[in-house]
Amino acid sequence: MNQGIVVSKFGGSSMADATAMRRSAAIAHKQNSSIIVVSATYGTTNILVELSKMVTTATWENCKSTIQKIIDNHLSIASELEVPSQCTNDLDEMFKELTTLVRGMNLLKEATPKACDSLFSLGERMSSRLFSECLNQLRDDTEIECFDVRKVLRTNSQYGKAAPNFEEIKKLADQHLLDVKYAGRVFVTQGFIGKDANGATTTLGRGGSDYSAAILAYALGAEKLEIWTDVAGIATTDPRICPDTKPINVISFQEAAELATFGAKVLHPTTLLPAMWGDIPVFVGSSFEPEKEGTWIRKNPEERPLIRAMAVRKDQTLLTLKNPNMLHAHGFLFNVFKVFNNHEVSVDSITTSEISVSLTVDDSTLLNKNLIRDLEELGEVHVEEDLSLVSLIGNNINHTPGLASDIFNALGDINVRMICFGASKHNFCFLVNETMVPEAIGRLHKRFIG
Ligand code: ADP
Ligand code: ASP
Ligand code: MG
Repeated sequence: MNQGIVVSKFGGSSMADATAMRRSAAIAHKQNSSIIVVSATYGTTNILVELSKMVTTATWENCKSTIQKIIDNHLSIASELEVPSQCTNDLDEMFKELTTLVRGMNLLKEATPKACDSLFSLGERMSSRLFSECLNQLRDDTEIECFDVRKVLRTNSQYGKAAPNFEEIKKLADQHLLDVKYAGRVFVTQGFIGKDANGATTTLGRGGSDYSAAILAYALGAEKLEIWTDVAGIATTDPRICPDTKPINVISFQEAAELATFGAKVLHPTTLLPAMWGDIPVFVGSSFEPEKEGTWIRKNPEERPLIRAMAVRKDQTLLTLKNPNMLHAHGFLFNVFKVFNNHEVSVDSITTSEISVSLTVDDSTLLNKNLIRDLEELGEVHVEEDLSLVSLIGNNINHTPGLASDIFNALGDINVRMICFGASKHNFCFLVNETMVPEAIGRLHKRFIG
């Protein structure tokens, strides 16, 4: 049994500066974490993304000044932490890599997804190097290793949104991280990044460090997974949208997974899958206020309220496809989904009538104009943008009489564009114009959570 392994993940705000790093290191020490997964320092991934966008048009001088911002931020943390020269040398190597990579991209005026992933990986690689020193200063009892997660986190080659290969990861974790299990060693490592079978660096998608931590927890059969962020756990809705949120102390895997999938940024959508497979309880807490209770995500919480929380997924587009020939015909939906499949676009929700079908997709999908063109071959396509998907998440939702009318009474005069109800016992969701989101959430929160 591999009881006792604690995997802790610290997000960008918990890595923001030397003070935040010291606070996070104290938590990792107190929690006896053996695998500590970190994000890039706050804002660094955004700057790297900005760089990847400017390389194709900007001058080298402009690129250089953006690179310098990243270097200065990291050097200032290094100096405040008074890291040893080995650490500054390692950072210097990464700064060189950053400069060379961006120079190459800028010369070619090309930012391929593969090059972008190598570029983005530097955020986590630099922060983990700094954080391992920070933890080292606190724990002179144990040797802290800054471990390159790419030795273990094998993915496919879908750059920008790579999928983990769990079988390989388990094997590689057994090879490289055995000391965690048997010698009590502590590893600081990177979230978000991985490596494909050809040795190229990949990333799991924005916010993917939560997922990395869950993947490692699963591969090592961890006892628990801790996600340390800037809020004291999961709240009944996004505190930035509604000021009256309440903390949730315990929530089930399924409900938390629905929350994450339907837009609660506090967890990356796929985080809970490996945790569920391994039945690993997940704690979400604030690295700024670690004494606060936080949230436990478990298999069987005692309470299963009808409505536990609400989430919002922004930037949704509603595509309505109408074709009178659909009436009593077979194979129409099959052909519609074939188009989405060909374009590798994922559909979030769907409703159908006799002669039309409505589907929601993320706005970014519309960059793919060929999708609409191909759909138009199947019927008349109507596109509505600037929508948000509002979800109520809880238990037994699809079998509770009167719930839908309660929801619409609470919403009052707010215009609802599409409803998805019945497919999930944990979710009721509908589309509204994005300007109506705070009002819709406010009214529903007052009615169902109080
Ligand atoms: P990290 O950098 O630590 O991964 P994120 O910014 O990705 O942190 O996630 C934390 C943020 O998630 C919070 O600051 C909060 O604004 C947002 N959030 C959205 N929905 C919720 C919710 N239901 N409960 C708590 N936080 C939420
Ligand atoms: N640094 C990455 C991002 O900002 C991954 C993460 O923080 O989870 O998206
Ligand atoms: Mg996050």
